[in-house]
Amino acid sequence: MLSDLREQLKPTSTMRVYDAVSEAGIDVSDWHNISSNRSPAQNPNYCYRWAFQGNDRVLVCLWYDELDFLANGVEYRGNARAEYKTYDERANDQRAPSLKQRLKTWAARALQMDVVVKIAHWEDRLVRVALVQSKSLVRRDDERAAADFRLLDSEPWHLVQYDMQTGAFLLRRGPKPLHETLKDIVVFGEEEGAASGAPSQAFPEITPDSYGVGVADQFIGNETPERTAVSAFVWGRSAKVRQVVLARSKGCCEHCGRLGFLKVNGEIYIETHHVVPLSEEGADTPGNVIALCPEHHREAHFGSEHEALKASFLQMLVAVGA
Ligand SMILES: [Zn+2]
Ligand SMILES: [Zn+2]
Repeated sequence: MLSDLREQLKPTSTMRVYDAVSEAGIDVSDWHNISSNRSPAQNPNYCYRWAFQGNDRVLVCLWYDELDFLANGVEYRGNARAEYKTYDERANDQRAPSLKQRLKTWAARALQMDVVVKIAHWEDRLVRVALVQSKSLVRRDDERAAADFRLLDSEPWHLVQYDMQTGAFLLRRGPKPLHETLKDIVVFGEEEGAASGAPSQAFPEITPDSYGVGVADQFIGNETPERTAVSAFVWGRSAKVRQVVLARSKGCCEHCGRLGFLKVNGEIYIETHHVVPLSEEGADTPGNVIALCPEHHREAHFGSEHEALKASFLQMLVAVGA
């Protein structure tokens, strides 16, 4: 049965990426934003990508040779963020301009793929897989083999794991089993629990460069005078509160819902704000901290409507039970 599956999934046709994306149910209308003498299927903004997202799903292109055919199914283990880092480092070490450029391009595509997997993780999206294979058997170090053959798997896949800290992910063929869906429903701990280190959800360790949740605010990696002025204890506690808030926000402004922008390291940038300032005895708990896009953060501090904003922030925090 496994050998049948091996045959069944082997890419032998030359399906175009455009057709795979469209057939997977992802909107391709933006591919058509291209000068009239070129075919939308050859839109360079899209046709070389390794991963796509749209509507309620994602499509990832995976090398057929890298699939694991196991007794209980087919799996794929990958890490696009690690690939990005490898390509990026190699590009920086490389002096030959054409190879440098190629490595930079691959780094950008790998980073974009990491974002797509991250979106699948956050939003629990349906995963479609296009399997690709190259004509050449040997993949040389400086070449990334061309995907000569492509096949859109008719069966949906699901993301079993995505490690926010490392970017490592595990995909499995088939729809997501119900028990995994239930397991994923995470209830955030109450304020004190989350801040005192006894959370109902285990959070990664906080480093000067990352909260480990894939979302970073204005404090992380930024040596502000404020940060050196406060004691390590205050910083450490505040950072844990921010970590909880950033994870809760999933990278979106909790006021307008807008997704923050992507940082060079693949994290989403969004700012954190104490609704009642600490200087006014506001609590340093997730119930008093909100994730905001930079514009709403500025407005909360300097806008003529800041009092109204504050009221609506507090209302929102009560509504989400923070
Ligand atoms: Zn906003
Ligand atoms: Zn603020």
